[in-house]
Amino acid sequence: MPSPRYFLQHFVPFTGYPYRGAPAACNLCGCREAITVAETDRRLKTLHSIACTQCGLIRTDPMPTPEELAEYYTSAYRADYQLAFAGGPPRHHLVRSRRDAISRATLLAPKLTAGAQLLDFGSGSGEFLDEAKRRGCTVIGVEPGRDYADYSRQHYGVEVLDEAEDPGRFPAGHFDVISTNHVLEHLRNPAETMERLSRWLKPDGILFAAVPNVVAPGKPPHERFHFAHVHGYVRETFDLLARRAGLVPHTDYRREDTTVVYRKTDAPPVPLENPGLAERLAVRLKPMSAPLYLASGAWIWPAIRRNAKAVRDGFAKR
Ligand SMILES: [Zn+2]
Repeated sequence: MPSPRYFLQHFVPFTGYPYRGAPAACNLCGCREAITVAETDRRLKTLHSIACTQCGLIRTDPMPTPEELAEYYTSAYRADYQLAFAGGPPRHHLVRSRRDAISRATLLAPKLTAGAQLLDFGSGSGEFLDEAKRRGCTVIGVEPGRDYADYSRQHYGVEVLDEAEDPGRFPAGHFDVISTNHVLEHLRNPAETMERLSRWLKPDGILFAAVPNVVAPGKPPHERFHFAHVHGYVRETFDLLARRAGLVPHTDYRREDTTVVYRKTDAPPVPLENPGLAERLAVRLKPMSAPLYLASGAWIWPAIRRNAKAVRDGFAKR
């Protein structure tokens, strides 16, 4: 259980998080100019998010330092995501993770053949590694969450590294398939990570990458922001991040918004810009004032949906 101090710092609305951070340039294009797109997060806590004027990539401002993020993950992430488990990941997590893994494996089926080399970057509790292994792939995962990594090693007998920061960790052009599912929004340096993944990919390899779309319909504006998500994407900025790393969407695979299969391209680099996107995002994300939001009752349905989903996941495997 979180301590009372932790609770105060992380759950009391209209107050900020216990961090100082530091101003950062845009990770995608290097520009320092930005405009505000949000002032609160999904707990109605103060969290300042800005969009780069040049390319539109959204980031937390000031950017948490690596130490502050590490501190957040060790003390808070578990409570946030109900990972404070003793015997393993909660059942509803495993049910959802297996369902996602099967759907990902179905999408990527043409490449998940016997002997294919596969990397899951951010492999969680290992269900996708398991699905790929069952199809004959040689699999390896990277997962910094120690409990999840241990769970995947013990239950699925897969190799999982706790990090892969070194670009030389794998040979260039090693993997047929790389997958990174809801990881890039958590990273301070997603552009560099995308380049590393691209470098490790075979010339005809595929990269499955998924992040939340901050302007996806059906959510009130502030629900889109979260302290652990230091970068926010829309289709255009996600594709530009991939393009910077020499990747383009693969037209043979169905795309669902910011869930995309990319392939390598030899086409020359493009300018890292999208004029006007930041302003359009600021309009789309225009926050409702917190009292107005509470009074409107717009929070009721998302709360009910979330609870219903937890109940469904809990019952699914009984
Ligand atoms: Zn930028």
